[in-house]
Amino acid sequence: MAWPPTREEFARLRETLAWVYARSPHYRRVLDEAGVRPAALASYDEFRTRVPRTDKTELAVNQRAHPPFGDFLAVPHEQFASLHTSPGPIYIPRLAEERGGTPVLVEAIAAMGVRRGEVVHVTLSYHVMPGGLRLHRAFEEYGCLVINGGTGASRLQVQVARDYGATVYAGTPSFLAHLGAPARGMCLDPRRDLRYRVGFSTAETLTPALRRDLDSTFGIELFDHCGEAQIGPLAGECRAHEGMHLHARDLFCEFLDPETGEPVAPGGIGELVATQLGPRALPLIRYAPRDAFRLLPDACPCGDPSLRLRFVGQVGVIKKIKGVLVHPAQVHAVTSQFPELGRFQVIVSHPEGERYDHAVLRAGVVRPPGDPQGLAQTLGERLRATVLIRMEIELVPEADVPEAAGPPRFAEAMVDRRGTA
Ligand SMILES: [Zn+2]
Repeated sequence: MAWPPTREEFARLRETLAWVYARSPHYRRVLDEAGVRPAALASYDEFRTRVPRTDKTELAVNQRAHPPFGDFLAVPHEQFASLHTSPGPIYIPRLAEERGGTPVLVEAIAAMGVRRGEVVHVTLSYHVMPGGLRLHRAFEEYGCLVINGGTGASRLQVQVARDYGATVYAGTPSFLAHLGAPARGMCLDPRRDLRYRVGFSTAETLTPALRRDLDSTFGIELFDHCGEAQIGPLAGECRAHEGMHLHARDLFCEFLDPETGEPVAPGGIGELVATQLGPRALPLIRYAPRDAFRLLPDACPCGDPSLRLRFVGQVGVIKKIKGVLVHPAQVHAVTSQFPELGRFQVIVSHPEGERYDHAVLRAGVVRPPGDPQGLAQTLGERLRATVLIRMEIELVPEADVPEAAGPPRFAEAMVDRRGTA
């Protein structure tokens, strides 16, 4: 879909909303309480400002109160065609026409240059999780031969991938990294004896360093993808590897400023709010998994006009500093380029009488730098180029930075002292 949405996309959204309102007791209650009649919604802006969001935890709480499916349901059980379980556990029944994201995954597989008949090694979990089976089905539908690897048992995984001659890897980048040691332990050369050519990387952040390491170990071209347990696949890289293309065909995706709720423009960071389009056994309207993305400006060199995104991180730890949204994962991407640095904290204050916020990066040092002043200067310059604001750099022993500030949650990485000084 386009962002901001076109008139046709809004019309399809309103049609879905009317369908859901007529069938789902939960959403009828929510929309009645908000005083919204779907057929009377005139514009996307009216939808955005009047239809309440569905919080990620709301569905789980609702299913506990009305087991097993909750009252989000829009169809009677006789119409279910399949059952899907995601962590929680959350129970998602599907209609026969709901393909659970398989059509967009097939397109994403084609964009990686996978050939029909190639052997694919899927290493996502198949146990009480949606990811493994979903990817398995998509690769099969595309015409590949698929190994149901699953997780764990790394020596056996190496053996099976080698014996079948797998040329495509699909799973987390960390599990792929984890296969190098057992391969060497079995006297195999991960580049020569394993023949992985391309990889579908998902469910974890693929950092530039990890991408380089895996390419040098396995000789593999990795394609980053992201999705969400309830709403399925969301975006994936093309061969240009310049951000992930949004491949939402049956999702209406909004990208909103986490503080104001206003739509963000290309170049900005926005929180994803997604509505599933078309009939669903268990529909989700304005579902907010609390994920933030940067929307990339300009067209992709590959020619695909769809919007491109970079995953930034969870919304809760984002702070607006000097008018710019900053997520600790962006700061971490810079600090992790310096082997001398570990955990960090960003202290934001607004000195009285001054016009702008003041940001200090307290960078935890794990080994003494040869030239502390030079390091602080280079760090400051790279930060400014990445997060677009100037920060004062203070090098401190890593022990002075709370452990809870560290990745991947960064719970205490941003300290806001504005309004308290
Ligand atoms: Zn592209």
